[in-house]
Amino acid sequence: MIDGGIPLGRLFGIPIRLHFSWFFIFILVTWLLAASYFPGTYQGWSTAASIIAAVITSLLFFSSVLAHELMHSVVARASGIPVKGITLFIFGGVSQITEEPRVPKVEFRVAIAGPATSLLLGLVFGAIFFAVPERFEAVRAVTFWLGSINMVLAVFNLLPGFPLDGGRVLRSILWWRTGNLRKATRWASTAGRVIGFLFIFAGIWLLLTGFWLNGLWLAFIGWFLSNAAAGSYRQLVIQQMLQGHDASEIMTQDCVMVAPDTTIEKLVNEYVLPSGNRCLTVGEAGHVQGLVTLKDIRSVPREKWSGVRVTEVMTPIDKLKWVPPDEDLAKVLGTLTQQDINQLPVVEGGRIVGMIARDNLLAFISMREKLGM
Ligand SMILES: [Zn+2]
Repeated sequence: MIDGGIPLGRLFGIPIRLHFSWFFIFILVTWLLAASYFPGTYQGWSTAASIIAAVITSLLFFSSVLAHELMHSVVARASGIPVKGITLFIFGGVSQITEEPRVPKVEFRVAIAGPATSLLLGLVFGAIFFAVPERFEAVRAVTFWLGSINMVLAVFNLLPGFPLDGGRVLRSILWWRTGNLRKATRWASTAGRVIGFLFIFAGIWLLLTGFWLNGLWLAFIGWFLSNAAAGSYRQLVIQQMLQGHDASEIMTQDCVMVAPDTTIEKLVNEYVLPSGNRCLTVGEAGHVQGLVTLKDIRSVPREKWSGVRVTEVMTPIDKLKWVPPDEDLAKVLGTLTQQDINQLPVVEGGRIVGMIARDNLLAFISMREKLGM
């Protein structure tokens, strides 16, 4: 969902990244604090004081968001679930936890860790606010805002709509009670869509009553949430559909092998056009050297096809992403998506025995959907 960004290093061994959209929200939060909240609440403050307090508060706020995500990730990793990293982006933070928990108990622990951290931070900032004497107004101002916002974060994330943390907590409980992950996900993500729509309506209402920035923001979050809820249910259904099936079931086996000195012209006219063949390997005497895809062919201008040999455009075998015939289809889909490729050769004992195209996988999914499997 969120790729790229600036690497910030590691915390507890977990890579942290800043997505470019984060700078927008950082500037917005800092600006709202400096130009509106602090001057409005503390009238004696100079502009400089407001700006300094705003920058410190904003940095501590995003550190709080990071702490929330970090606890999800740390608990996930401690439970044996691999974590790719944490990215801070426009809607806060996201932990890239690559696998779904296998048991309800683990999902519950991973989900609750974030809001529990926010709650704890809220209490700590609140305690500082109450402990610090009134003459340290700036410290009190900053800790009051941070205490409140962490409480808001804890409560917001505990709303019982998947994929919010509270929705995950709900799903883990339903999963534990019913023993049915799919059903639990369907209910929890339906709740997520309902909450998303409520946010959108509330946002539009705010927008119409003059609070355009808050309204727009709320509607935007609602839209993001309802999309994520629908998407995550669909993803799970597909995962479950693919489970227990392997690459050999859907691969096409009519691979052809052409000699390394074959021109693209000859390849297209003799192999691609007559049979629509898309598994085109290059090699000699049963020994595969590489693979040519339609994309490789398209990369050469038409008028040069007769002068370019397949070895010049092929992907060499040692640079190919491939899967064994018994690879789980859910993992095949993951590889196709993560690598953003359309074709994946199936290799056994150093030989290409078949090819999986994205189309094969989509056909497999849509057939099972039509049959209600
Ligand atoms: Zn969370």
